[in-house]
Amino acid sequence: MKNTDGSDMVSRLKLAGILLTMGGLTVLSGWGIYAIPAPVVDRMLESDLRHAAAQMNRQVVSHLEDVDATFRTGKLDAHDEEFLELLPATSDIYRFELFNDAGRVIWSTRATDVGSVNSDSYFSDVLGRGNIVYKHEEKPLTEVDDFDGNLLELTGPQTRHVAEIYTPVIREGRFVGAIEFYSDITQVRNLFINRVRLLLTVLSGIALIALSAVTLVIFRANRRQVRSLRGRAAKERELMDDQLRLAREVRLLGELNEWLQSSRSLDELFDMVSRFMTHILPEAEGSVYVYSNSRDVLDGCASWNGGTHKSHIHPEGCWGLRRGRTYEYGASEIDFVCEHAEPHDGRPYFCFPILAHGETVGLLHLRAHEDCDEVFHSSKKLAQLCAEQISMAIANVRMRDQLHDQSVRDPLTGLFNRRHMTETLRKSISRSQQTGASLSLIAVDVDHFKKFNDTHGHDAGDMVLRAVGSALEQGCDRDEVACRIGGEEFMLILPDNTPDDAMTRAEQLRQAVEAVSVRYGEKSLPRITISVGVAHYPAHGTMPQDLMRAADDALYMAKDKGRNQVQVAKGAASAPSTVADAKHKRAPKSAPSTSAA
Ligand code: GH3
Ligand code: MG
Ligand code: MG
Repeated sequence: MKNTDGSDMVSRLKLAGILLTMGGLTVLSGWGIYAIPAPVVDRMLESDLRHAAAQMNRQVVSHLEDVDATFRTGKLDAHDEEFLELLPATSDIYRFELFNDAGRVIWSTRATDVGSVNSDSYFSDVLGRGNIVYKHEEKPLTEVDDFDGNLLELTGPQTRHVAEIYTPVIREGRFVGAIEFYSDITQVRNLFINRVRLLLTVLSGIALIALSAVTLVIFRANRRQVRSLRGRAAKERELMDDQLRLAREVRLLGELNEWLQSSRSLDELFDMVSRFMTHILPEAEGSVYVYSNSRDVLDGCASWNGGTHKSHIHPEGCWGLRRGRTYEYGASEIDFVCEHAEPHDGRPYFCFPILAHGETVGLLHLRAHEDCDEVFHSSKKLAQLCAEQISMAIANVRMRDQLHDQSVRDPLTGLFNRRHMTETLRKSISRSQQTGASLSLIAVDVDHFKKFNDTHGHDAGDMVLRAVGSALEQGCDRDEVACRIGGEEFMLILPDNTPDDAMTRAEQLRQAVEAVSVRYGEKSLPRITISVGVAHYPAHGTMPQDLMRAADDALYMAKDKGRNQVQVAKGAASAPSTVADAKHKRAPKSAPSTSAA
């Protein structure tokens, strides 16, 4: 806009310059029309008058009876004088005089001049050599003989233009005298001057019009060219802006991809998505949802750039998820608002289903900011690319989670495996060392399981193991970890449990397993029992293997004492050795232990 104003100003300045030049030319041509004609006309008249005078000279000479005698003596006969007196009446000459070779006037239409002498040097220098002398002067009206007094004007010019022409009389190569003619050339001069002025006016008018037309055409062509150049420049600038924007988007997408690939968890991934999307699509607010494990709802995971997300949304409430493809609200005449987009103020939005390995895992929802509808719609492709990147990243994180799970989980029961247990125990011990918090370890072994397998088959045994694993896991609190360390053996890590609490929890677990009923085919399998050994940190060991061995020892103690019971490891003065002891310690007057020990 600023640029256009600048160019308009330049155009106006150019136009003003052209008008000024045209004005100057008009003034100049006006001056020329006034000043040029007079000298030109004078030159033309001089040439004509010289010819006319020469002719008149010849006419006079040819009429004189005796030319030589006349000029030598200065005497004219009556016939000659009559002829000479008639001459002014038959021409535009108002006065003429005859000179002898010495410059004396021998005859004149003005009688008073006779006898006077012209002693000017040109008389002998120019006339004497046979050349004509021409003089053009402006003389007072009174100087012009026979001028009609009525024509004397009270106003206006009081002078007349007079041509005074001396012509030599040469006889047989000898200068014998001269004849002078006076002509009033005012009228003819003015007539010619006016004609020339008119001609010049017409010509300069035509020239000025032609020049104006040419200038206007050039100016217009120039302006058209400037406009087209400006248009081309604007287009190129637009193209350049587009390319720069595209380059920036590609760069940001590349960076987003790189960061997302390196994210280790979905939380971290959504944090990155929030930050990048604010940069990549600043004209849109957004949110992202991911299917819950139950797959009946989607959980709101993140939102950015002024957007909000609901804690849960239903997949049927989103047109994008229902139709399995991108839904663009505000692109067609009839649109329906998704449930999760309520309350809706009419702003356009996109719903991109997030797919991972062909399965819909979530939803990317983008909504245009106020007054950004056009930019928003044009960013659909970019938004789509972002959704694809996010999909891939979620798929990667999920796959990594699955692989990690596979490496730390037992496939039969879904509990953590021995490796993870050892690692967790090590960390828990280290934490307890730092904080002084209590920590207990519970070892579990199914009683007579070999016999159970032999009686009911391996598959039934597997089902029972799964049920035992589930019972143990359900018996765990938030930070507690249940693991299957091999065969029909399990271990549980209970941080922040006092020895008494641990004994109680162990007994609860034993009872929970004892209560497990498993159906196998048509029949119910017989109930199974477990023997449980408990060890405490630091009373029974400060290293993972020591603590595990102590819990194992306690477990074998329980086996020895008849199975289906809880025993605590030996060697800890303060630790209760049985569940009954634990109960007794906590509530000395309570009922006797339900332990089988
Ligand atoms: P105890 O009361 O002394 O522990 O007797 P037990 O028979 O349970 O002891 P033992 O260690 O001799 O037997 C363990 C049995 O557990 C052997 C095997 O048949 C069974 N077992 C181990 N792993 C699995 C498994 O993954 N699936 C099934 N079905 N059985 C398993
Ligand atoms: Mg065993
Ligand atoms: Mg066993």
